[in-house]
Amino acid sequence: MHDTPDIADRRDAVCVVGAGASGLAAVKNLLEHGFAVDCYERETSVGGAWNWRHDRSPVYAGAHLITSRPLTEFPDFPMPDNWPDYPHHSQLLSYLERYAKHFGLGEHIWFGTEVVSAVPVGDGRWDVTTRSTGGGSSRTQRYAAIVVANGHNWHPAKPDIEGELRGQVIHAAQYKDPAQLRNRKVLVIGAGNTGCDIAVEAAQQATTVWHSTRRGYWYAPKYLFGRPADQVNARMLRWRLPLRLRQWLYRRMLALTAGDLTRYGLPAPDHRPYESHPIVNSQLPYYLGHGRIKPVPDVARFAGGQVELADGRRIDPDLVITATGYAPRFEFLAPELVDTEPDGRPDLHLHAFARKHPTLAVVGLLQPDAALLPLVHWQSVAVARWLRLRREDPVRAAAVQQKESARPIPSWSRRQVVPSRRHWFEVDHVDYLKAVEGLLREMEPAK
Ligand SMILES: Cc1cc2nc3c(=O)[nH]c(=O)nc-3n(C[C@H](O)[C@H](O)[C@H](O)COP(=O)(O)OP(=O)(O)OC[C@H]3O[C@@H](n4cnc5c(N)ncnc54)[C@H](O)[C@@H]3O)c2cc1C
Repeated sequence: MHDTPDIADRRDAVCVVGAGASGLAAVKNLLEHGFAVDCYERETSVGGAWNWRHDRSPVYAGAHLITSRPLTEFPDFPMPDNWPDYPHHSQLLSYLERYAKHFGLGEHIWFGTEVVSAVPVGDGRWDVTTRSTGGGSSRTQRYAAIVVANGHNWHPAKPDIEGELRGQVIHAAQYKDPAQLRNRKVLVIGAGNTGCDIAVEAAQQATTVWHSTRRGYWYAPKYLFGRPADQVNARMLRWRLPLRLRQWLYRRMLALTAGDLTRYGLPAPDHRPYESHPIVNSQLPYYLGHGRIKPVPDVARFAGGQVELADGRRIDPDLVITATGYAPRFEFLAPELVDTEPDGRPDLHLHAFARKHPTLAVVGLLQPDAALLPLVHWQSVAVARWLRLRREDPVRAAAVQQKESARPIPSWSRRQVVPSRRHWFEVDHVDYLKAVEGLLREMEPAK
Protein backbone atom coordinates (compact mmCIF):
# COMPACT_ATOMS: atom_id res chain seq x y z
CA MET A 1 0.00 0.00 0.00
CA HIS A 2 1.27 3.52 -0.75
CA ASP A 3 2.28 5.58 2.22
CA THR A 4 0.85 9.02 1.51
CA PRO A 5 0.37 11.26 4.55
CA ASP A 6 -1.80 13.86 2.70
CA ILE A 7 -4.47 11.24 1.98
CA ALA A 8 -7.07 10.93 4.73
CA ASP A 9 -7.54 7.26 5.57
CA ARG A 10 -11.24 6.43 6.09
CA ARG A 11 -10.23 2.88 7.11
CA ASP A 12 -13.20 0.47 6.84
CA ALA A 13 -15.55 3.08 5.35
CA VAL A 14 -17.11 2.47 1.93
CA CYS A 15 -17.39 5.19 -0.71
CA VAL A 16 -20.65 5.36 -2.69
CA VAL A 17 -20.78 7.44 -5.89
CA GLY A 18 -24.19 9.00 -6.57
CA ALA A 19 -27.39 9.53 -4.55
CA GLY A 20 -30.02 8.50 -7.09
CA ALA A 21 -32.25 5.51 -6.37
CA SER A 22 -29.31 3.10 -6.62
CA GLY A 23 -26.91 5.11 -4.48
CA LEU A 24 -29.56 5.56 -1.78
CA ALA A 25 -30.28 1.82 -1.71
CA ALA A 26 -26.54 1.11 -1.53
CA VAL A 27 -26.00 3.57 1.36
CA LYS A 28 -28.97 2.19 3.29
CA ASN A 29 -27.94 -1.44 2.93
CA LEU A 30 -24.27 -0.78 3.68
CA LEU A 31 -25.23 1.10 6.86
CA GLU A 32 -27.52 -1.78 7.87
CA HIS A 33 -24.59 -4.18 7.42
CA GLY A 34 -22.46 -2.13 9.81
CA PHE A 35 -20.32 -0.09 7.39
CA ALA A 36 -19.41 3.57 7.70
CA VAL A 37 -20.37 5.19 4.39
CA ASP A 38 -19.40 8.40 2.59
CA CYS A 39 -21.68 9.00 -0.41
CA TYR A 40 -20.77 11.70 -2.92
CA GLU A 41 -23.43 13.31 -5.08
CA ARG A 42 -22.50 15.94 -7.64
CA GLU A 43 -25.97 17.56 -7.57
CA THR A 44 -27.34 19.41 -4.56
CA SER A 45 -30.00 16.88 -3.55
CA VAL A 46 -31.04 13.23 -3.85
CA GLY A 47 -33.09 11.61 -6.63
CA GLY A 48 -30.72 11.32 -9.61
CA ALA A 49 -32.67 10.94 -12.86
CA TRP A 50 -35.92 11.81 -11.08
CA ASN A 51 -34.49 15.04 -9.70
CA TRP A 52 -35.93 17.17 -12.52
CA ARG A 53 -34.55 20.35 -10.93
CA HIS A 54 -31.04 19.70 -12.19
CA ASP A 55 -29.82 20.08 -15.78
CA ARG A 56 -28.68 16.50 -16.27
CA SER A 57 -32.04 14.98 -15.38
CA PRO A 58 -33.50 13.13 -18.41
CA VAL A 59 -37.13 13.55 -17.30
CA TYR A 60 -39.61 15.81 -19.08
CA ALA A 61 -42.68 17.54 -17.61
CA GLY A 62 -45.14 14.86 -18.74
CA ALA A 63 -43.09 11.79 -17.73
CA HIS A 64 -44.89 9.13 -15.72
CA LEU A 65 -43.58 5.73 -14.69
CA ILE A 66 -44.05 2.95 -17.22
CA THR A 67 -43.83 0.34 -14.46
CA SER A 68 -46.70 0.25 -12.00
CA ARG A 69 -46.46 1.52 -8.41
CA PRO A 70 -46.51 -1.76 -6.40
CA LEU A 71 -43.96 -3.35 -8.70
CA THR A 72 -41.71 -0.25 -8.78
CA GLU A 73 -41.28 0.46 -5.05
CA PHE A 74 -38.38 -0.81 -2.95
CA PRO A 75 -39.47 -4.01 -1.14
CA ASP A 76 -38.89 -2.41 2.28
CA PHE A 77 -40.47 1.00 1.62
CA PRO A 78 -43.94 1.13 0.02
CA MET A 79 -45.27 4.06 -1.98
CA PRO A 80 -48.48 5.60 -0.58
CA ASP A 81 -51.60 3.53 -1.38
CA ASN A 82 -53.45 6.58 -2.66
CA TRP A 83 -50.88 7.23 -5.42
CA PRO A 84 -51.96 6.33 -8.95
CA ASP A 85 -51.01 3.11 -10.72
CA TYR A 86 -48.40 5.03 -12.73
CA PRO A 87 -47.06 7.90 -10.59
CA HIS A 88 -45.80 11.16 -12.08
CA HIS A 89 -42.02 11.68 -12.11
CA SER A 90 -42.29 14.32 -9.35
CA GLN A 91 -43.90 11.68 -7.10
CA LEU A 92 -40.93 9.38 -7.64
CA LEU A 93 -38.62 12.18 -6.54
CA SER A 94 -40.74 12.75 -3.46
CA TYR A 95 -40.66 8.99 -2.77
CA LEU A 96 -36.84 8.92 -2.94
CA GLU A 97 -36.62 11.98 -0.70
CA ARG A 98 -38.85 10.23 1.85
CA TYR A 99 -36.78 7.03 1.58
CA ALA A 100 -33.60 9.02 2.31
CA LYS A 101 -35.25 10.75 5.28
CA HIS A 102 -36.87 7.60 6.69
CA PHE A 103 -33.57 5.68 6.75
CA GLY A 104 -31.52 8.71 7.87
CA LEU A 105 -29.29 8.65 4.79
CA GLY A 106 -28.79 12.42 4.38
CA GLU A 107 -26.06 12.74 6.98
CA HIS A 108 -23.91 10.26 5.03
CA ILE A 109 -24.15 12.15 1.71
CA TRP A 110 -21.83 14.94 0.58
CA PHE A 111 -23.82 17.00 -1.90
CA GLY A 112 -22.35 19.20 -4.62
CA THR A 113 -19.32 16.92 -4.62
CA GLU A 114 -18.15 15.06 -7.69
CA VAL A 115 -15.93 11.98 -7.69
CA VAL A 116 -13.21 12.71 -10.24
CA SER A 117 -11.01 9.65 -9.80
CA ALA A 118 -10.91 6.31 -8.00
CA VAL A 119 -7.64 4.39 -8.06
CA PRO A 120 -6.89 0.99 -6.50
CA VAL A 121 -3.89 1.23 -4.19
CA GLY A 122 -3.43 -2.43 -3.26
CA ASP A 123 -4.95 -4.61 -0.56
CA GLY A 124 -8.41 -3.86 -2.03
CA ARG A 125 -8.29 -0.21 -0.96
CA TRP A 126 -9.14 2.81 -3.10
CA ASP A 127 -7.96 6.40 -3.27
CA VAL A 128 -11.00 8.45 -4.16
CA THR A 129 -10.54 12.04 -5.28
CA THR A 130 -13.47 14.43 -5.03
CA ARG A 131 -14.01 18.05 -5.99
CA SER A 132 -16.82 20.58 -5.64
CA THR A 133 -19.08 20.19 -8.67
CA GLY A 134 -18.42 23.78 -9.71
CA GLY A 135 -14.64 23.26 -9.61
CA GLY A 136 -12.24 24.22 -6.84
CA SER A 137 -9.59 22.22 -5.07
CA SER A 138 -9.68 18.46 -4.86
CA ARG A 139 -9.33 16.09 -1.92
CA THR A 140 -8.28 12.45 -1.80
CA GLN A 141 -9.44 9.93 0.78
CA ARG A 142 -8.71 6.24 1.14
CA TYR A 143 -11.59 3.75 1.37
CA ALA A 144 -11.95 0.03 1.98
CA ALA A 145 -14.31 -0.32 -1.01
CA ILE A 146 -16.14 1.70 -3.64
CA VAL A 147 -19.72 1.24 -4.81
CA VAL A 148 -20.50 3.09 -8.02
CA ALA A 149 -24.13 4.16 -8.48
CA ASN A 150 -23.64 6.88 -11.06
CA GLY A 151 -26.60 5.97 -13.30
CA HIS A 152 -26.58 5.30 -17.04
CA ASN A 153 -29.33 7.62 -18.22
CA TRP A 154 -27.68 11.04 -18.25
CA HIS A 155 -25.02 11.08 -20.99
CA PRO A 156 -26.87 11.46 -24.32
CA ALA A 157 -25.94 8.96 -27.04
CA LYS A 158 -26.31 11.20 -30.09
CA PRO A 159 -26.63 9.72 -33.57
CA ASP A 160 -24.08 10.72 -36.16
CA ILE A 161 -26.20 12.07 -39.02
CA GLU A 162 -24.23 13.59 -41.88
CA GLY A 163 -25.25 16.81 -43.61
CA GLU A 164 -26.88 20.09 -42.69
CA LEU A 165 -30.44 20.75 -41.57
CA ARG A 166 -32.33 24.04 -41.67
CA GLY A 167 -34.22 23.26 -38.46
CA GLN A 168 -33.13 22.67 -34.88
CA VAL A 169 -31.75 19.31 -33.69
CA ILE A 170 -31.88 18.41 -29.99
CA HIS A 171 -31.42 15.21 -28.00
CA ALA A 172 -34.35 14.01 -25.87
CA ALA A 173 -32.31 15.05 -22.81
CA GLN A 174 -33.01 18.68 -23.83
CA TYR A 175 -36.73 18.08 -24.22
CA LYS A 176 -38.48 19.28 -21.08
CA ASP A 177 -41.86 20.78 -21.90
CA PRO A 178 -44.60 20.37 -24.56
CA ALA A 179 -44.32 24.12 -25.24
CA GLN A 180 -41.12 23.27 -27.15
CA LEU A 181 -43.29 21.39 -29.68
CA ARG A 182 -46.13 23.83 -30.14
CA ASN A 183 -46.98 24.64 -33.78
CA ARG A 184 -43.80 23.07 -35.09
CA LYS A 185 -43.12 20.34 -37.62
CA VAL A 186 -41.44 17.71 -35.46
CA LEU A 187 -39.44 14.61 -36.34
CA VAL A 188 -38.86 12.26 -33.39
CA ILE A 189 -36.11 9.68 -33.95
CA GLY A 190 -36.19 6.53 -31.82
CA ALA A 191 -38.77 4.01 -30.66
CA GLY A 192 -37.74 3.71 -27.02
CA ASN A 193 -40.15 4.69 -24.29
CA THR A 194 -38.91 8.29 -24.33
CA GLY A 195 -39.23 8.56 -28.14
CA CYS A 196 -42.78 7.22 -28.00
CA ASP A 197 -43.74 9.56 -25.13
CA ILE A 198 -42.39 12.58 -27.03
CA ALA A 199 -44.12 11.53 -30.28
CA VAL A 200 -47.41 11.33 -28.33
CA GLU A 201 -46.87 14.76 -26.75
CA ALA A 202 -45.96 16.16 -30.16
CA ALA A 203 -49.19 14.69 -31.59
CA GLN A 204 -51.07 17.00 -29.22
CA GLN A 205 -48.97 20.13 -29.80
CA ALA A 206 -47.20 20.11 -33.15
CA THR A 207 -48.62 20.76 -36.61
CA THR A 208 -46.93 17.67 -38.08
CA VAL A 209 -45.25 14.70 -36.36
CA TRP A 210 -43.05 12.12 -38.02
CA HIS A 211 -41.77 9.21 -35.93
CA SER A 212 -38.67 7.52 -37.31
CA THR A 213 -37.95 3.96 -36.19
CA ARG A 214 -35.34 1.56 -37.46
CA ARG A 215 -37.33 -1.64 -36.97
CA GLY A 216 -40.75 -2.83 -35.87
CA TYR A 217 -41.39 -3.24 -32.12
CA TRP A 218 -44.05 -4.65 -29.84
CA TYR A 219 -45.85 -1.63 -28.37
CA ALA A 220 -47.59 -2.78 -25.20
CA PRO A 221 -50.51 -0.91 -23.61
CA LYS A 222 -50.30 0.28 -20.01
CA TYR A 223 -53.44 -1.67 -19.07
CA LEU A 224 -54.65 -5.18 -19.88
CA PHE A 225 -57.95 -6.53 -18.56
CA GLY A 226 -58.26 -3.34 -16.49
CA ARG A 227 -55.00 -3.98 -14.64
CA PRO A 228 -51.52 -2.45 -15.15
CA ALA A 229 -49.90 -4.60 -17.85
CA ASP A 230 -46.80 -5.45 -15.76
CA GLN A 231 -49.07 -6.89 -13.05
CA VAL A 232 -50.72 -9.16 -15.64
CA ASN A 233 -47.28 -10.24 -16.82
CA ALA A 234 -46.19 -10.87 -13.22
CA ARG A 235 -49.21 -13.15 -12.78
CA MET A 236 -48.27 -15.14 -15.90
CA LEU A 237 -44.77 -15.53 -14.44
CA ARG A 238 -46.22 -16.72 -11.11
CA TRP A 239 -48.18 -19.35 -13.03
CA ARG A 240 -44.82 -20.40 -14.52
CA LEU A 241 -46.14 -20.30 -18.06
CA PRO A 242 -43.37 -21.27 -20.48
CA LEU A 243 -41.80 -18.47 -22.54
CA ARG A 244 -43.22 -19.70 -25.85
CA LEU A 245 -46.77 -19.67 -24.40
CA ARG A 246 -46.23 -16.22 -22.89
CA GLN A 247 -45.01 -14.98 -26.27
CA TRP A 248 -48.13 -16.39 -27.95
CA LEU A 249 -50.39 -14.81 -25.32
CA TYR A 250 -48.56 -11.50 -25.68
CA ARG A 251 -49.18 -11.48 -29.45
CA ARG A 252 -52.84 -12.37 -28.89
CA MET A 253 -53.27 -9.65 -26.29
CA LEU A 254 -51.72 -7.00 -28.53
CA ALA A 255 -53.83 -8.17 -31.46
CA LEU A 256 -56.94 -7.74 -29.30
CA THR A 257 -55.98 -4.31 -27.93
CA ALA A 258 -53.78 -2.16 -30.22
CA GLY A 259 -54.38 -4.43 -33.23
CA ASP A 260 -52.12 -4.73 -36.26
CA LEU A 261 -49.91 -1.61 -36.29
CA THR A 262 -48.55 -2.36 -39.77
CA ARG A 263 -51.92 -0.97 -40.96
CA TYR A 264 -50.57 2.47 -40.04
CA GLY A 265 -47.29 1.94 -41.88
CA LEU A 266 -45.15 0.67 -39.01
CA PRO A 267 -42.82 -2.20 -39.91
CA ALA A 268 -43.68 -5.61 -38.41
CA PRO A 269 -41.37 -6.60 -35.52
CA ASP A 270 -38.38 -8.65 -36.71
CA HIS A 271 -38.16 -10.43 -33.35
CA ARG A 272 -40.48 -12.20 -30.91
CA PRO A 273 -42.16 -10.55 -27.89
CA TYR A 274 -39.78 -10.28 -24.89
CA GLU A 275 -36.76 -10.15 -27.25
CA SER A 276 -36.42 -6.37 -26.99
CA HIS A 277 -36.78 -3.91 -24.12
CA PRO A 278 -40.51 -3.43 -23.43
CA ILE A 279 -42.11 -0.33 -24.93
CA VAL A 280 -45.18 0.63 -22.94
CA ASN A 281 -47.43 3.26 -24.48
CA SER A 282 -51.20 3.12 -24.83
CA GLN A 283 -51.47 6.41 -26.67
CA LEU A 284 -49.13 5.75 -29.57
CA PRO A 285 -51.56 3.48 -31.48
CA TYR A 286 -54.33 6.02 -30.78
CA TYR A 287 -52.45 8.89 -32.42
CA LEU A 288 -51.22 6.65 -35.26
CA GLY A 289 -54.86 5.75 -35.86
CA HIS A 290 -55.82 9.43 -35.93
CA GLY A 291 -53.08 10.23 -38.45
CA ARG A 292 -51.42 12.60 -35.94
CA ILE A 293 -48.21 10.54 -35.92
CA LYS A 294 -46.77 9.54 -39.29
CA PRO A 295 -44.37 6.58 -39.00
CA VAL A 296 -41.26 6.92 -41.18
CA PRO A 297 -38.16 4.73 -41.59
CA ASP A 298 -34.60 5.42 -40.48
CA VAL A 299 -32.98 8.77 -41.30
CA ALA A 300 -30.35 8.44 -44.07
CA ARG A 301 -28.93 11.99 -43.89
CA PHE A 302 -29.70 15.67 -43.71
CA ALA A 303 -29.63 16.98 -47.28
CA GLY A 304 -30.44 20.38 -48.74
CA GLY A 305 -31.71 21.54 -45.36
CA GLN A 306 -34.20 18.64 -45.29
CA VAL A 307 -34.20 15.12 -43.87
CA GLU A 308 -33.67 12.27 -46.32
CA LEU A 309 -35.17 8.99 -45.15
CA ALA A 310 -33.87 5.49 -45.81
CA ASP A 311 -36.59 4.98 -48.48
CA GLY A 312 -35.42 8.10 -50.36
CA ARG A 313 -38.33 10.32 -49.28
CA ARG A 314 -37.58 13.82 -48.02
CA ILE A 315 -39.33 15.61 -45.16
CA ASP A 316 -38.80 19.11 -43.79
CA PRO A 317 -39.15 19.23 -39.99
CA ASP A 318 -38.17 22.42 -38.19
CA LEU A 319 -37.40 20.45 -35.01
CA VAL A 320 -35.67 17.06 -34.83
CA ILE A 321 -35.58 15.28 -31.45
CA THR A 322 -33.16 12.37 -31.28
CA ALA A 323 -34.52 10.01 -28.62
CA THR A 324 -31.58 7.68 -29.13
CA GLY A 325 -30.84 6.82 -25.54
CA TYR A 326 -27.96 7.31 -23.17
CA ALA A 327 -24.46 5.84 -22.88
CA PRO A 328 -22.81 4.63 -19.66
CA ARG A 329 -19.88 6.77 -18.45
CA PHE A 330 -17.25 5.92 -15.85
CA GLU A 331 -14.84 8.82 -16.34
CA PHE A 332 -13.41 8.48 -12.84
CA LEU A 333 -12.40 4.84 -13.35
CA ALA A 334 -9.73 3.48 -15.70
CA PRO A 335 -11.61 1.35 -18.30
CA GLU A 336 -9.78 -1.88 -17.39
CA LEU A 337 -11.10 -1.73 -13.80
CA VAL A 338 -14.58 -2.60 -15.08
CA ASP A 339 -13.22 -4.81 -17.90
CA THR A 340 -14.48 -2.44 -20.57
CA GLU A 341 -14.86 -4.18 -23.92
CA PRO A 342 -13.64 -2.48 -27.14
CA ASP A 343 -17.18 -1.20 -27.86
CA GLY A 344 -17.29 0.55 -24.46
CA ARG A 345 -19.45 -1.96 -22.59
CA PRO A 346 -18.25 -2.85 -19.07
CA ASP A 347 -18.15 -6.58 -18.34
CA LEU A 348 -19.14 -7.11 -14.71
CA HIS A 349 -20.37 -10.24 -12.98
CA LEU A 350 -24.16 -9.83 -12.65
CA HIS A 351 -23.55 -6.40 -14.25
CA ALA A 352 -22.44 -5.43 -10.75
CA PHE A 353 -19.21 -6.99 -9.47
CA ALA A 354 -15.83 -6.10 -10.98
CA ARG A 355 -14.23 -9.38 -11.96
CA LYS A 356 -10.66 -8.55 -10.88
CA HIS A 357 -11.37 -6.01 -8.14
CA PRO A 358 -13.40 -7.56 -5.32
CA THR A 359 -13.91 -4.19 -3.59
CA LEU A 360 -15.41 -2.46 -6.63
CA ALA A 361 -19.11 -2.87 -7.40
CA VAL A 362 -21.58 -1.04 -9.62
CA VAL A 363 -25.22 -0.76 -8.60
CA GLY A 364 -28.04 0.12 -11.02
CA LEU A 365 -26.27 -0.72 -14.28
CA LEU A 366 -29.26 -2.74 -15.41
CA GLN A 367 -32.10 -2.44 -17.86
CA PRO A 368 -34.69 -4.91 -16.62
CA ASP A 369 -37.90 -5.98 -18.33
CA ALA A 370 -39.62 -4.68 -15.16
CA ALA A 371 -38.99 -1.95 -12.59
CA LEU A 372 -35.42 -1.24 -11.56
CA LEU A 373 -35.71 -0.40 -7.86
CA PRO A 374 -36.47 -3.90 -6.51
CA LEU A 375 -33.43 -5.24 -8.39
CA VAL A 376 -31.26 -2.42 -7.13
CA HIS A 377 -32.35 -3.21 -3.56
CA TRP A 378 -31.26 -6.85 -3.83
CA GLN A 379 -28.07 -5.89 -5.68
CA SER A 380 -27.24 -3.55 -2.79
CA VAL A 381 -27.94 -6.26 -0.21
CA ALA A 382 -25.63 -8.62 -2.15
CA VAL A 383 -22.87 -6.00 -2.35
CA ALA A 384 -23.13 -5.24 1.38
CA ARG A 385 -23.13 -8.97 2.30
CA TRP A 386 -20.20 -9.57 0.01
CA LEU A 387 -18.12 -6.77 1.57
CA ARG A 388 -19.06 -7.99 5.05
CA LEU A 389 -18.06 -11.56 4.21
CA ARG A 390 -14.75 -10.27 2.88
CA ARG A 391 -14.13 -8.45 6.15
CA GLU A 392 -15.29 -11.25 8.47
CA ASP A 393 -14.21 -14.39 6.64
CA PRO A 394 -11.60 -13.55 3.97
CA VAL A 395 -10.87 -17.21 3.21
CA ARG A 396 -14.50 -18.03 2.34
CA ALA A 397 -14.86 -14.72 0.53
CA ALA A 398 -11.88 -15.59 -1.67
CA ALA A 399 -13.48 -18.96 -2.51
CA VAL A 400 -16.81 -17.31 -3.42
CA GLN A 401 -14.99 -14.65 -5.44
CA GLN A 402 -13.00 -17.25 -7.38
CA LYS A 403 -16.14 -19.20 -8.25
CA GLU A 404 -18.36 -16.22 -9.04
CA SER A 405 -16.06 -13.77 -10.78
CA ALA A 406 -15.47 -15.97 -13.83
CA ARG A 407 -19.18 -16.63 -14.52
CA PRO A 408 -20.17 -15.20 -17.90
CA ILE A 409 -23.53 -13.47 -18.35
CA PRO A 410 -25.16 -16.43 -20.22
CA SER A 411 -24.52 -18.64 -17.16
CA TRP A 412 -27.35 -16.91 -15.29
CA SER A 413 -29.33 -15.11 -18.01
CA ARG A 414 -31.57 -16.99 -20.44
CA ARG A 415 -32.78 -13.79 -22.06
CA GLN A 416 -32.42 -13.65 -25.86
CA VAL A 417 -32.53 -10.05 -27.08
CA VAL A 418 -31.85 -8.22 -30.33
CA PRO A 419 -28.09 -7.53 -30.19
CA SER A 420 -27.72 -3.75 -29.95
CA ARG A 421 -26.28 -1.12 -27.58
CA ARG A 422 -29.80 -0.58 -26.30
CA HIS A 423 -29.71 -4.07 -24.80
CA TRP A 424 -26.25 -4.05 -23.22
CA PHE A 425 -27.68 -4.27 -19.71
CA GLU A 426 -31.03 -5.85 -20.51
CA VAL A 427 -31.98 -8.51 -17.96
CA ASP A 428 -34.97 -10.68 -17.26
CA HIS A 429 -35.88 -9.62 -13.72
CA VAL A 430 -36.79 -13.18 -12.66
CA ASP A 431 -33.46 -14.61 -13.91
CA TYR A 432 -31.63 -11.74 -12.31
CA LEU A 433 -33.24 -12.06 -8.91
CA LYS A 434 -32.63 -15.83 -8.95
CA ALA A 435 -28.94 -15.27 -9.69
CA VAL A 436 -28.63 -12.72 -6.87
CA GLU A 437 -30.49 -15.10 -4.54
CA GLY A 438 -27.98 -17.82 -5.48
CA LEU A 439 -25.10 -15.52 -4.62
CA LEU A 440 -26.70 -14.53 -1.31
CA ARG A 441 -27.16 -18.20 -0.44
CA GLU A 442 -23.52 -18.90 -1.18
CA MET A 443 -22.52 -16.16 1.22
CA GLU A 444 -24.64 -17.44 4.11
CA PRO A 445 -22.61 -18.71 7.09
CA ALA A 446 -21.69 -22.40 6.70
CA LYS A 447 -23.98 -24.67 8.80
C1 LIG B 1 -37.42 9.04 -18.86
C2 LIG B 1 -37.14 7.87 -17.98
C3 LIG B 1 -38.19 7.10 -17.49
C4 LIG B 1 -37.94 6.02 -16.67
N1 LIG B 1 -39.00 5.28 -16.22
C5 LIG B 1 -38.77 4.25 -15.38
C6 LIG B 1 -39.86 3.48 -14.86
O1 LIG B 1 -41.01 3.70 -15.19
N2 LIG B 1 -39.56 2.46 -14.01
C7 LIG B 1 -38.28 2.18 -13.62
O2 LIG B 1 -38.08 1.26 -12.83
N3 LIG B 1 -37.24 2.87 -14.11
C8 LIG B 1 -37.45 3.90 -14.97
N4 LIG B 1 -36.39 4.62 -15.46
C9 LIG B 1 -35.02 4.21 -15.09
C10 LIG B 1 -34.42 5.13 -14.00
O3 LIG B 1 -33.22 5.57 -14.51
C11 LIG B 1 -34.28 4.39 -12.72
O4 LIG B 1 -35.58 4.23 -12.16
C12 LIG B 1 -33.44 5.05 -11.63
O5 LIG B 1 -33.74 6.40 -11.50
C13 LIG B 1 -31.95 4.91 -11.86
O6 LIG B 1 -31.32 5.31 -10.67
P1 LIG B 1 -29.74 5.34 -10.51
O7 LIG B 1 -29.50 5.80 -9.12
O8 LIG B 1 -29.16 4.07 -10.95
O9 LIG B 1 -29.22 6.44 -11.55
P2 LIG B 1 -29.50 7.99 -11.52
O10 LIG B 1 -30.89 8.25 -11.12
O11 LIG B 1 -29.02 8.52 -12.83
O12 LIG B 1 -28.54 8.54 -10.35
C14 LIG B 1 -27.15 8.61 -10.50
C15 LIG B 1 -26.64 9.70 -9.57
O13 LIG B 1 -25.22 9.69 -9.56
C16 LIG B 1 -24.74 11.03 -9.60
N5 LIG B 1 -23.39 11.01 -10.17
C17 LIG B 1 -23.03 10.57 -11.40
N6 LIG B 1 -21.70 10.67 -11.57
C18 LIG B 1 -21.21 11.17 -10.39
C19 LIG B 1 -19.89 11.50 -9.94
N7 LIG B 1 -18.81 11.32 -10.71
N8 LIG B 1 -19.75 12.01 -8.68
C20 LIG B 1 -20.84 12.18 -7.88
N9 LIG B 1 -22.11 11.90 -8.27
C21 LIG B 1 -22.28 11.39 -9.51
C22 LIG B 1 -25.76 11.74 -10.46
O14 LIG B 1 -25.75 13.12 -10.23
C23 LIG B 1 -27.07 11.09 -10.03
O15 LIG B 1 -27.66 11.77 -8.95
C24 LIG B 1 -36.61 5.70 -16.31
C25 LIG B 1 -35.55 6.46 -16.81
C26 LIG B 1 -35.81 7.53 -17.65
C27 LIG B 1 -34.64 8.29 -18.20
